[in-house]
Amino acid sequence: MSYKPTIGLEIHAELNTRSKMFCGCANNPNEKRPNINICPVCTAQPGTLPVANEEAVKKVIKTGFALNCKIATESKFDRKNYFYPDIPKGYQISQYDEPLCAKGYLVVDSGKIGITRIHLEEDTGSSIHPEGVDYSLVNFNRAGVPLMELVTEPDITSGKQASDFAKELQLIFKYLGVSDADMEKGLMRVEVNISVSKTKKFGTKVEIKNLNSFKVVQKAIDFEIARQIELLENKEVVVQETRGWHDKKEVTFSQRKKESAHDYRYFPEPDLLPMNFDRQYLQNIKSTLPELPESKRKRFKKEYGLEESQLEIFVTQKDLSEYFEKVISEFSEWLKVEKIRATKDIYKLVANYLLSDLAGLLEGKEFVEKDFKITPENFAEFIKMIYLQEINSKTAKMVLSEMFGTGVDPSSIVEGNNLGQMKDDGKLEKIIKEVIVKNPKAVADYKSGNKNAIQFLSGQVMALTRGTANPSSVQEMLKKILS
Ligand code: ADP
Ligand code: MG
Ligand code: ZN
Repeated sequence: MSYKPTIGLEIHAELNTRSKMFCGCANNPNEKRPNINICPVCTAQPGTLPVANEEAVKKVIKTGFALNCKIATESKFDRKNYFYPDIPKGYQISQYDEPLCAKGYLVVDSGKIGITRIHLEEDTGSSIHPEGVDYSLVNFNRAGVPLMELVTEPDITSGKQASDFAKELQLIFKYLGVSDADMEKGLMRVEVNISVSKTKKFGTKVEIKNLNSFKVVQKAIDFEIARQIELLENKEVVVQETRGWHDKKEVTFSQRKKESAHDYRYFPEPDLLPMNFDRQYLQNIKSTLPELPESKRKRFKKEYGLEESQLEIFVTQKDLSEYFEKVISEFSEWLKVEKIRATKDIYKLVANYLLSDLAGLLEGKEFVEKDFKITPENFAEFIKMIYLQEINSKTAKMVLSEMFGTGVDPSSIVEGNNLGQMKDDGKLEKIIKEVIVKNPKAVADYKSGNKNAIQFLSGQVMALTRGTANPSSVQEMLKKILS
């Protein structure tokens, strides 16, 4: 019988409220200057009192709704007591037995993962240990920033599934607008708990902290599963401990052994009132839920018939998908009036141009609509010109690049440069005959069975038309004339 891995995650996300959790200081994770966003409350001066940030409470409740949780109608804050240089009060205001949200779940590709609870607490400051000196420094800018903690049931069974779950969660946080959830910046932090067992009874769990990317989450879990199995196979035991991830060696290493459970001496925070939410209050928050990634996936597939790979790009890039839909909506009248049946072809063209040609122009940068010069109306007009074969795909590339750089509408670009697709067959025929006369060798090659010669000849024709002819009609006409 083989070992079954059991994994549970604890995920922290800094909420993107304007101010901190219990004072009016700015919540700005991008502030580089130390100890700028601080006040007597978040540095715990004697006599100061906290006031809860309602926006943060609402953001956690909103997240709870999105993750199918039961939302508490009564909740409170508790003190979690422990000493650390970067927690100025000597305790952290958190939630113990009455979290805002509990008993939810999230379905990812590979299964349904239970969510035990989501609660609200405050972040700590950060310590800096400069090299070569005998002191440490502390920066309280982050102290008191609202922090949401989500704990899962031990339902996860592989590194890949853990990473999928965390990725989907990050996307949901972004859709909800509750957290920027950037892992590199530490705005979203994932801790994993792992054990392996051959029986129904769970094995001893090990916790891994400070994993700063989805890749590392997956790698660390897979490494740890193998390490634990090897220990057990060698008749050794797994020690309950906290481990870290060594980026270079790609191994986990012991950080501290858990001799006994921490005694945080939790008790209700006496300086904050308990919270009561009536039905209407919760309903109002629920009504602000946007469309979530999973329903967008389904809708985009059904409405636009996009391919799987395209779907995922649109779902993960919210701005781009919103732009896509704005362009599509520009077509609604036209499609009705013109009675065009090829609606799906239009959707495909829009998607293809946004995801391939435009992506090339963006050079790997993410699409941000406010920095983008092409209006949805102009983009739709551009697609319409391609659809109606007013411009060929080569011209389209030039036009798009010009639009991208200047924001000028496509018809002005086409007219201004005389790029419209050559419609006059008489003129084209004349050019073709000219090319045939000038290239007797290629013509002879073609006649003796060298099919590549036709490519050369049509290339010559395209050049003479400055790319405005339709390549397939050029080939067709060439063959006709040559035969
Ligand atoms: P602790 O009190 O040690 O923090 P919790 O009961 O709060 O433990 O669980 C923390 C996380 O560990 C949760 O995500 C939970 O699902 C997970 N977990 C609990 N037991 C195990 C186990 N035996 N193996 C793997 N994960 C576990
Ligand atoms: Mg815990
Ligand atoms: Zn403050």
